[in-house]
Amino acid sequence: MNRERLSALIQTERELYLSRTSASRAQYQAADHLLGRVPMTWMNKWPGGYPLALRDARGCHVTDIDGNEYVDFALGDTGAMAGHSPTQTIRAIQERIGNLGGITTMLPTADAEWVGAELTRRFGLPLWSFTLTATDANRWALRIARLVTGRPRILTFSYGYHGSVDETLAVLDAEGRTVARSGSVGPPVSVDITTRAAEFNDLASVERALARGDVAAVLTEPALTNMGIVLPEPGFLDGLRAACTAHGTLLIIDETHTISAGPGGCTREWGLHPDLFVIGKAIAGGVPAGAYGISHEVAGALADHAEADLVDVGGVGGTLAGNAMSTAAMRATLHRVLTDQAFAHMIDVATVFRQGVEQVIRRHAMPWSVAQLGARVEYRFCDPSPRTGTESNAVYDGDLEEYLHLYLANRGVLMTPFHNMALMCPETTLGDAERHTRLFEDAVAALNA
Ligand code: PMP
Repeated sequence: MNRERLSALIQTERELYLSRTSASRAQYQAADHLLGRVPMTWMNKWPGGYPLALRDARGCHVTDIDGNEYVDFALGDTGAMAGHSPTQTIRAIQERIGNLGGITTMLPTADAEWVGAELTRRFGLPLWSFTLTATDANRWALRIARLVTGRPRILTFSYGYHGSVDETLAVLDAEGRTVARSGSVGPPVSVDITTRAAEFNDLASVERALARGDVAAVLTEPALTNMGIVLPEPGFLDGLRAACTAHGTLLIIDETHTISAGPGGCTREWGLHPDLFVIGKAIAGGVPAGAYGISHEVAGALADHAEADLVDVGGVGGTLAGNAMSTAAMRATLHRVLTDQAFAHMIDVATVFRQGVEQVIRRHAMPWSVAQLGARVEYRFCDPSPRTGTESNAVYDGDLEEYLHLYLANRGVLMTPFHNMALMCPETTLGDAERHTRLFEDAVAALNA
């Protein structure tokens, strides 16, 4: 690739971005009381030097405060996979918090049992508890796993991501040691005390880590989605399940992103059998909510620990978790928005998106690849697709990514800032996917001109 040409194109796109988004820029520059000038520091990951400022968002469309409209394939990094402000979810929230009244009360509503039963129908685990984020669901699932196994450590895969969970910010280094992920902010203890890292799609690395007999749980996504999409190779997840069982280690599957695979996530699509299960982000239509599920066996083992304080200050729980508003939002979203029919449509659109990218890559002989997981598609700047998180991390190309993202944003298409991920919601159309293909082709052609 001609890097000089790439730098020149980035410069042109940055200038165009500046000229189209002056109100967003002014809002950013005036935000003197926000750390990093944004409400959440990762908003600085958007390309162009500052994020677009939101005016409104509906379905798969976003409008910024300069009045520019976008087709949004970022969808709040899955938080808005049900589409922005889905009508049925909004109606249920209005009924709950406006007509009836009650946002957070410490009292249960009937919606909670409905949601628990629906999560069981989709994912198989029989018992559920709620959180406000997937991070918390992971944290509490890990505590339960350590309690019932009496073991101190967990296993995670290099460059997997499960939220800001201390134990998971670990990677395997070239010498096979578990070390902190680069940039980890103020870890409480050295991460090798809490964690053994392994490589996804490498059962030998899993066996090595589990053989020490001190791992309470493996925590993984069924396909890695936070460093590109790294799909499991045939037999890997079965082998992982078998290794966990053989070593007395619990398997926690985190489907916060991989629910894109279908209404029951990869767990249902691929017939997985986790001991604990975690989900968050999309299930309440964008309202903060998460959940973890446990098997009867784990529930039985938990019952043997009368000393464990599950109801007060034992380290598992949050004041606003399971509140009436987020529970009503989960019920409406699961019942009426993220339905089987909606998933069928989202996956069809994602297939057209993926095929479009494949054709462009082929036509322009780019050494790139594209992966699809149901309603989620991601391209990588390597071919074939990476098999491990470490391989995927190694092919990250910040300049190329900035160029493509800015090129698309300047022409009305938003990609996920952290990577080249595109997600479809129920309102995303085949036309939206085709629009991306056309722009992606123009961007690649400009690069090769
Ligand atoms: N699990 C997975 C698989 C995730 O990708 C993320 C966030 N990207 C989380 C958990 C944490 O979600 P949250 O930041 O909403 O707590």
